[in-house]
Amino acid sequence: MIEGSLVIDIHGHSNSNERTGMIPDRPRLLRAMDRAGIDMACVFHSCDGRGNRVTARYVEGCTDRLIPFAFASPTMGDDAERELRRTIDDGNGFRGIKLYPPSAPWPLHDDHWHPIYRFADERRLVVLLHTGPESHAEPKHLMRVAPQFPGARFVAGHSGNVQPQRDQAIAAARAHPNVFLETSSTFRDPGVIEALVAGAGADRVLFGSDQPLMDPRSQLGRIVTSRLADEDKRKVLGENARRLLDLP
Ligand SMILES: [Zn+2]
Repeated sequence: MIEGSLVIDIHGHSNSNERTGMIPDRPRLLRAMDRAGIDMACVFHSCDGRGNRVTARYVEGCTDRLIPFAFASPTMGDDAERELRRTIDDGNGFRGIKLYPPSAPWPLHDDHWHPIYRFADERRLVVLLHTGPESHAEPKHLMRVAPQFPGARFVAGHSGNVQPQRDQAIAAARAHPNVFLETSSTFRDPGVIEALVAGAGADRVLFGSDQPLMDPRSQLGRIVTSRLADEDKRKVLGENARRLLDLP
């Protein structure tokens, strides 16, 4: 690890996933974080709005290390904003929103998503979106969304995951100061972390692991062993997330 670095993982799950064998086991997650040297992790339940209560229970008594994010989808209709308001205002430490555009029938720039973005804009919240080659989740759509909701801080999960979507994510971050890039991916050639930083700047790239779906050690290893300067590694590993999440 880089001496003295704060490490914040912006992408973690409190939900299970049978298909991938993912289980919401908090002691196991914390042990994995300890072994990898991860100080804090953002967690969310990306199934439906009911999962927000599960996330609140998951982080209970552990909010010094786990930062809950609320899940919402336009498929929830008017309930999406109501559920976000309830979750964020409940006093359980929720600091952001997680969205999964592939599971909705509308691309991420469609008007159906706007009530969620408007809420994030008003509250200046972090919005972590799954982005990738799926047509509803392509990061190029952030080109339209980001300037419409300048108070929201959009984080492109997986940074588009593959080419050419990775370049779309970088282009969106270059064009709009409220777009950020997140590093987790199953598809990562050596040099991708360096390319994200060279393209968007070290202040705009955030470490995410997608744990426990993915092993946080390998996701972290890509950053630690990259050719970035130590100062830039520190930003990516935790300083940028600390700033974005208004952590002390
Ligand atoms: Zn994920």
